[in-house]
Amino acid sequence: MTYQRTLSKKVSVTGRGLHSGKLVTLTLHPAVANAGISFKRVDLKDQPPIKASFENVSATENATTIGTGINVVHTIEHLLGVLYGLGINNLFCEIDGPEVPIMDGSGGSFAFLLKETGIVSLNASRNFIVITEPIRVEVDDKWVQIEPDPMLVIESTIVFAHPKIKTQSRKFRFSCEDFITDICRARTFGFLKDVDMLKRKGLIKGGSLDNAIILDEFNVVNPEGVRFSDEFIRHKILDTIGDISLLGYDVAGKITSFKSGHHLHNLLCRKIIATPGCYKVISAPNQQESAVVAFALPRSMSPVAY
Ligand SMILES: [Zn+2]
Repeated sequence: MTYQRTLSKKVSVTGRGLHSGKLVTLTLHPAVANAGISFKRVDLKDQPPIKASFENVSATENATTIGTGINVVHTIEHLLGVLYGLGINNLFCEIDGPEVPIMDGSGGSFAFLLKETGIVSLNASRNFIVITEPIRVEVDDKWVQIEPDPMLVIESTIVFAHPKIKTQSRKFRFSCEDFITDICRARTFGFLKDVDMLKRKGLIKGGSLDNAIILDEFNVVNPEGVRFSDEFIRHKILDTIGDISLLGYDVAGKITSFKSGHHLHNLLCRKIIATPGCYKVISAPNQQESAVVAFALPRSMSPVAY
């Protein structure tokens, strides 16, 4: 039996939003089994919580946003990627601003915070969406597809005309342990040439070398360099996990993507659920033992690694 999980107690973190630049406090509360993940804007009066679901995604430019009107939360993907990565299915997230703090641009700080706070099992089995037929979405030369596999596998490729990135590909077979060592610490990235344009659009007001890898024409600008030689594709996998987690289930299927982003990931979620013959939902345990085993948590997480 593999159980659903939540936090053992509430925990708060304060930081700036990447795009809004606003200082916000995020408080994560334990939630009961089958509650799922939801966000509540506590700085707004009388606004309902927003369920972290692909159906509630309202914008995908530069980040994933859920909600409508003023009741929105931007840049949820790294936090959600870490929640999936640590097997946390249920959480009530209070936030006093419009955007999840960017922290260091990766999921590493969230992973450390959650693990140190304590993750507990609930008396309910995990729910898996098992892909039974391939589904594909594409926009121009970009595409993402999912096909049957007993566990979550993500094989992504990105292409940038930059000497430090060029073409990067990586295949990640999901396990909590490998998520923590290989994926969650990979930071978001951007190009110096785009900074003015993004600022004119009112974005990256909170951006700095402390929360993103910045590339000039030839090199990485950050004095500390990169954490992995292929940190860029690792980050794409973190984004993909966060976006796909919006299905609301643990996923058994192989995702392959080429130059994908938040928009395509959301289209894929929508197409999967709109195609009933391509998946089934099961409660663990079942035959999906390899997927279940992937949710074993690592025994320890050293602060040194974060
Ligand atoms: Zn990202």
